[in-house]
Amino acid sequence: MENKIIRLKKGKEESLLRRHPWVFSGAIASLPEGIEEGETAVVVSSAGDVLGTGHFQIGSIAVRILEFGDSGISEDFFSRRLQSAFALRQTLDLIRPDNDCFRLVHGEGDFLPGLVVDIYGDTAVVQAHSPGMHFERHRIAAALTELPGACIRNVYYKSETTLPYKARLDPENEYLAGSYDGNIATENGLQFNIDWMRGQKTGFFVDQRENRMLLQNYAKGRRVLNMFCYTGGFSVYAMRGGAEKVDSVDSSAKAAALTDANIELNFPGDNRHKTFATDAFRFLAEMEKDAYDLIVLDPPAFAKHRSALKNGLIGYRKLNAKAFEKIRPGGVLFTFSCSQVVTKEMFRLAVFSAAAQSRRKVRILHQLTQPADHPVDISHPEGEYLKGLVLYVE
Ligand code: SAH
Repeated sequence: MENKIIRLKKGKEESLLRRHPWVFSGAIASLPEGIEEGETAVVVSSAGDVLGTGHFQIGSIAVRILEFGDSGISEDFFSRRLQSAFALRQTLDLIRPDNDCFRLVHGEGDFLPGLVVDIYGDTAVVQAHSPGMHFERHRIAAALTELPGACIRNVYYKSETTLPYKARLDPENEYLAGSYDGNIATENGLQFNIDWMRGQKTGFFVDQRENRMLLQNYAKGRRVLNMFCYTGGFSVYAMRGGAEKVDSVDSSAKAAALTDANIELNFPGDNRHKTFATDAFRFLAEMEKDAYDLIVLDPPAFAKHRSALKNGLIGYRKLNAKAFEKIRPGGVLFTFSCSQVVTKEMFRLAVFSAAAQSRRKVRILHQLTQPADHPVDISHPEGEYLKGLVLYVE
């Protein structure tokens, strides 16, 4: 089938020439008749020059470019892109006997806009964020199981919550290859139960791997509070780091149970750890001053869209203010934001004003971000989303 052609308005080709992969709907002069959501289309400038080929969708981002220039999408497109993504993870030394979970595809950062793939042992969990990727899911699954050197046997497709709901695709979460055959993955020698079928996102936050490792180095002899613990990732590392005690808090009872299970898996019978299934703000308000000297704040995105930015920033300020107010002198605070619309500067400002409000003396020890298996294409700076600060609070 011939690809349909999407023509841009005059002067709107600039960002594509700089290899930014999104075409906004306002840049489009005319849509071809009968174009369907998720279809592959060729984008041309007003002068008729071919700029690239991508997936069309209805919405503010109208096309996500898969291939720039005029070569189009070849039969082995997904195999080639996945091989190159896998080669990068090999370079990063993420595939080891003591580490079998990592992000294989980080959307635009791996030149596969709209696609996320996380690997847990021999299972790949695939999320489509665009209708185009949804329609390609079987090709992607086949390319994953055939990926040389990767040993992926099961492919679980999980896009019920990531596809635009207006697209009416009614995606079902299902295995596209293989089936469930266990769910324990290993990260830096620690084991985790990963619930990709019922859990959040792909089941685990692989993006905090390096930050968890850093926290381990600070944990010795400290009393640790892990807020918004989800699977208990930071808690398990804190235990290995020799924390005196570790308390984990999450408002979801399921998350609390997952944390307990992961602690038990790595440190059976160790009574240094406790889980609290309660609201984080309530816990912070009620806890005693000086009870903890290592606190992690890793909340869900407080601002998921630009419209929620102002309230989101207030949320970060309030949350951090509570931690500054209560942390023991000489304490270390790990604080994060995963909201893509909150820039590094905005996040710093929210945290610094919280610190000022508490009148504590605060110094920056580390400035953190997402790990290298979540690469940022420099043409697509929007791909950078995770921000973190490690602060020494006196
Ligand atoms: N730190 C985690 C990821 C956090 S995801 C990790 O390293 O894997 C955010 C978590 O915050 C979710 O598990 C969610 O259940 C929890 N959450 C959301 N709102 C909350 C609230 N008000 N109080 C406590 N937990 C909350």
